[in-house]
Amino acid sequence: MNKKHPDYSVESLAIRAGQQRTAEGEHSDAIFPTSSFVFDNAAQAAARFSHQEEGNIYSRFTNPTVRTFEQRLAAMEGGERCVAFASGMAAILALGMGLLENGAHVVCSRSLFGTSVLLFQNIMGKFGVETTFVDLTNISAWQQAITPKTRFLFLETPSNPLTHLADIKELASLAHHHDCLLVVDNVYCTPVLQQPLALGADLVVHSATKYIDGQGRCIGGAIVGSEELLNQSIYPFLRTAGPTMSPFNAWVFLTGLETLAVRMQAHCANALQLARWLEEHPAVTHVYYPGLSSHPQYTLGQQQQSGSGGVLSFEVAGGKQAAWKVIDGTQMLSITANLGDVKTTITHPATTTHGRLTDEERKQAGISDGLIRISVGLEQINDIKNDLIPGLDT
Ligand SMILES: *Cc1c(COP(=O)(O)O)cnc(C)c1O
Repeated sequence: MNKKHPDYSVESLAIRAGQQRTAEGEHSDAIFPTSSFVFDNAAQAAARFSHQEEGNIYSRFTNPTVRTFEQRLAAMEGGERCVAFASGMAAILALGMGLLENGAHVVCSRSLFGTSVLLFQNIMGKFGVETTFVDLTNISAWQQAITPKTRFLFLETPSNPLTHLADIKELASLAHHHDCLLVVDNVYCTPVLQQPLALGADLVVHSATKYIDGQGRCIGGAIVGSEELLNQSIYPFLRTAGPTMSPFNAWVFLTGLETLAVRMQAHCANALQLARWLEEHPAVTHVYYPGLSSHPQYTLGQQQQSGSGGVLSFEVAGGKQAAWKVIDGTQMLSITANLGDVKTTITHPATTTHGRLTDEERKQAGISDGLIRISVGLEQINDIKNDLIPGLDT
């Protein structure tokens, strides 16, 4: 699908796609920290502003480093075009501002990143957008929620923290049957493990803050899809409203993309080993990880993803007290709700990411007090296991 590199695999695109060398012949990607660009003469300035000539104008909407990042991520996702944003949330906001209007309706998975729920419910809700939240895995719930005003369906798969999977192909055909779009937040898998556009999704959303950076340094986001959708609905919002990715962050993400494939494989390998070890541990009552054959959607995961990802959750008997004991028993693991880092992070969803929910809502979402989420990093696997032992063994 990528015109410039039709035959390259995602691993090679991550390293090669989008680079535009300057006359200096630099091997690494150049960084352009400039707010504006100069023109040869008045006629060229006029041609650029009236779109008769393509080229840089102003870094709110045209910057070469950001463009390289956009082209590389578009190539990896198999999309025609990508637009980068200042954060993952800015990308999701752009989705709403670009595709919705007063009175429009959206159907979202109930198990979305918490801030995404608030964005749809509280911020877009203020402008007359209505959102229905449904169970990610229940196709008939999605179908029943769609109305003539529904513009798109929005989901994350695997879900956080319980790793439920959506059947992207099935939901794409449902969306298209009702003349709406399917939008997939692909943060957990990245294009290395899952390519939603190839499965029928219309747009892919990213928080580059997570695995794309991979080392917890910068905030950024992106939307990938067809030229038509991006040019008509998404890019005009970026150009006018300005939630722009900085060239420095784009440059950090470019170097992140270069190692994304090997990192994702290593995250998956560590996570699978940890999941299997936890499943055998007597203090652990349940492990949620799509790579375990005990996962109820194991087969779908094997078909839809080329790896099971780096995030897993598990339950310990004894509720919050036992879960906190595991977390506080660690020395090396970082106690933080962030994910997608080379450093392993551990968090207690019931009192952090899902702490705003009522007890009843939490119960409905399956977030028990004994649940612990781990974003498995790239430390040596035995060191990760050993760090969990003091809190698990009594
Ligand atoms: C972090 C995250 C976001 C938001 O991205 P920011 O870069 O933090 O704004 C959206 N979706 C998912 C799944 C995330 O993990």
